[in-house]
Amino acid sequence: MTQYSISFSNPHTHFIQIEAIFETQGEQILNIQLPAWRPGRYELGNFAKNVRNFKCFDDTHQELLAEKVTKDCWKVSLINNSQKIRVSYEYYANELNAGSTYLDELQLYVNPVNCLVYVPSNIQGSCELNIDVPDDFMIAIGLKKVGHRKYQAANFHELVDSPFIASPSIQHRTYEVEGKQFFVWMQGEAKPNWNKVVDDFKQFTIKQLQLFKHFPAEEYHFLIQVLPFSFYHGVEHLTSTVIAIGPSYDLNDKSVYDELMGVSSHELFHVWNIKSIRPAEMFPYDYTKENYSHLGYVAEGITTYYGDLMLLRSNYFSLDEYLELLAEQITKHEHNFGRFNYSVAESSFDTWLDGYVPGVPNRKISIYADGCVLAFIADVLIRKHSKNQFSMDEVIRGLYVDYALKNKGYTEKDYQLLLEKYAGIDFTDFFKNYIHGKTAYTSLFVECLQYLGLILIEKPSLQFYEAYLGVKIAPNGNEIVAVYPDSIAEKIGMSVGDEILSLNGKSIVKNLHKWCAFYADELMQFTLRRKQRNFRIELQLDGQVYYKNYTIKMADNLDAKQHESLLMWKGEA
Ligand SMILES: [Zn+2]
Repeated sequence: MTQYSISFSNPHTHFIQIEAIFETQGEQILNIQLPAWRPGRYELGNFAKNVRNFKCFDDTHQELLAEKVTKDCWKVSLINNSQKIRVSYEYYANELNAGSTYLDELQLYVNPVNCLVYVPSNIQGSCELNIDVPDDFMIAIGLKKVGHRKYQAANFHELVDSPFIASPSIQHRTYEVEGKQFFVWMQGEAKPNWNKVVDDFKQFTIKQLQLFKHFPAEEYHFLIQVLPFSFYHGVEHLTSTVIAIGPSYDLNDKSVYDELMGVSSHELFHVWNIKSIRPAEMFPYDYTKENYSHLGYVAEGITTYYGDLMLLRSNYFSLDEYLELLAEQITKHEHNFGRFNYSVAESSFDTWLDGYVPGVPNRKISIYADGCVLAFIADVLIRKHSKNQFSMDEVIRGLYVDYALKNKGYTEKDYQLLLEKYAGIDFTDFFKNYIHGKTAYTSLFVECLQYLGLILIEKPSLQFYEAYLGVKIAPNGNEIVAVYPDSIAEKIGMSVGDEILSLNGKSIVKNLHKWCAFYADELMQFTLRRKQRNFRIELQLDGQVYYKNYTIKMADNLDAKQHESLLMWKGEA
């Protein structure tokens, strides 16, 4: 058994002390590895940059030579036949998001995948974790407790999938669904309406357990970091999730509370889809290097689709509220011209490169938004061709029962076969055109909406400069973040990264929409700044519409078939 101990002495320095005791199992040379990435974010994290004072000792407390062989692997040579080696180091814990490790006077928050080392040849060995914190600290964690501040994991995979928050001020409530215990923890400045939180969480939990008919854990923990600033992030784990949300003072306001519910439902769904239902190439995870997969659109797309759909089925969202979210996804698809360059499968593969930043203009698409729209389309195709007998519910449950519960990863072909089994039609062209190809699918999306008695309404974007100039601006500034291909803005020389300083001599201060509309019929003289060089350009709008606004509404008169299909999709029939 490997024993880990985490402690701290000066929390304001943000350094935590870590000790690990490994059994040598007769080996004379041991490789000690720190993960290079964390599941949930498919890009390298290079956590070893936060490690200092790395030391190794044998049974007799003699220091051993630890030589780095890669950026995050140390080779330790034993001098005598020591049974155990002790590794100690400090980890700089000064990043606070849903996947990081953070320490200050108020909390010790650890994602073990960031900071715990392991011996790759013994990754399946059991682990014990000792969390050495003051007596008044409570510990929120998904691992099995085996003693005072002691927890046990079956192996390193389970250990690193078990983040924790230890704090004297953490709040929590619990609820039960089908004999399973759910914990909602909140750390930080939070004044939640607990009765409402518990009730709303319970409703979407019930719907998700009903869908899968099985929950892979006895307990589940929502570890919520409530932050004093605007924030939104969640990371899934085997028996828990970490969610970072803010600002504190808006937690009970509808927009932030909706985000909390959206991310919480999404992360719970991941317990099945990605923590259990896993692409074969990530089963098991290899923490030392990139685990490439083309299936990110299944892991994140289907989860994005169901995260919100479960909130519709549990009556948290009204139909109109849900349709607003679905419209946002098709808007993201339509506004991203990366769809002409990369398929959703190619975009899945490339998360390792730049999956979590906007990246080069029009290079890639979103596994979340495009994956969600494609999940909706596949769902409706199954409903339509099976005459509402089956849906994506059966497909995702099939992936869980046929693969996850049998301890197997799935391939794209497995997913395709399940779609075909329940739809009763061939999905070869679907994969060729829409998953691996760049064929436009908005018209197919519209057909699928129609099947449920819904319609897509297309209007000029609500922001005047998006609709008629063809640029998008950063929410809190003047910087151009996107340019519509072949728009007047692009033709006249505007590009991503330029700042719009003034229009016809008027400074632009979060009012570009108003000034653009004001001067719509006149010659427009813009002053822009690019890499500290100011320049002017002139243009006259041509009346052409570039970026569009999409909304989804119920049609006026639904026929009986549409009515029935809609009710079934909403889970009401
Ligand atoms: Zn996700």
